[in-house]
Amino acid sequence: MEFTQFKSFFLRSCEKNGIAPLNDGQMDTFWRFANHLLQVNQTTNLTAIRNLPDVVTKHFVDSLTVSARIPQSARVLDLGCGPGFPSIPLAIARPDLTLVALDSTDKKIRFLNESAVLLGLSNLKGVAGRAEDGKIRASLGEFDVVVSRAVARLNVLCELCMPYVRLGGKLVAMKGAKGEEELAEAQNAIRILGGKAVLFSDPLLLEEGSEDRCLVEVEKISPTPKQYPRAYATILKKPL
Ligand code: SAH
Repeated sequence: MEFTQFKSFFLRSCEKNGIAPLNDGQMDTFWRFANHLLQVNQTTNLTAIRNLPDVVTKHFVDSLTVSARIPQSARVLDLGCGPGFPSIPLAIARPDLTLVALDSTDKKIRFLNESAVLLGLSNLKGVAGRAEDGKIRASLGEFDVVVSRAVARLNVLCELCMPYVRLGGKLVAMKGAKGEEELAEAQNAIRILGGKAVLFSDPLLLEEGSEDRCLVEVEKISPTPKQYPRAYATILKKPL
């Protein structure tokens, strides 16, 4: 796929999914990122997605579906970012945001930080560490919005994420077909952690059909009790 094909394919997919059009500079940055990702992925295992059209739809367009839920100039945490989804697409498309991307795997954060330098993304910083680590939490502080894709079931995810959300801010969890079911299961966790949830069903329209995607927004309406998050083994063994 050449750049011109990539550009028209990407723009069409954005349009189908109600994503604001990208300018030429942003398109060029996405193109460089896609090639860099696919190249590094040949020797370092970063993603199971190995062809350009899938990178565009399943990584880029999917990541950008959260953009409309993020207010102007917000400080955003991508918790469990992997090689940078949704954080890198957001950093390219939304220069107004300040993004921190957290992942427990060093090599993924190394890739993310190298990519940010390569692409000139001064609004994105990757941090290696575990979300439930008290030192990480103290150093990162609180965020207007926490986003997360493909990290854990919603009840577990809420315990990891809600302590990072400022009062009045929100978690936007990118969930699949089971979003509604997970939301029902997470009601107790959401209440205990100080949240209030709303479900948005937003099927992702891919070129070859549609993929289930829904966004669960959990607004923080009261402070999260200090004992959360617990150790990861405890969260998994005794989910709220
Ligand atoms: N969000 C990316 C990666 C999903 S894979 C994407 O959608 O492509 C899940 C990622 O979460 C892994 O990279 C894993 O290292 C990270 N992760 C899981 N539990 C974590 C925790 N407690 N703290 C920080 N990162 C975590």
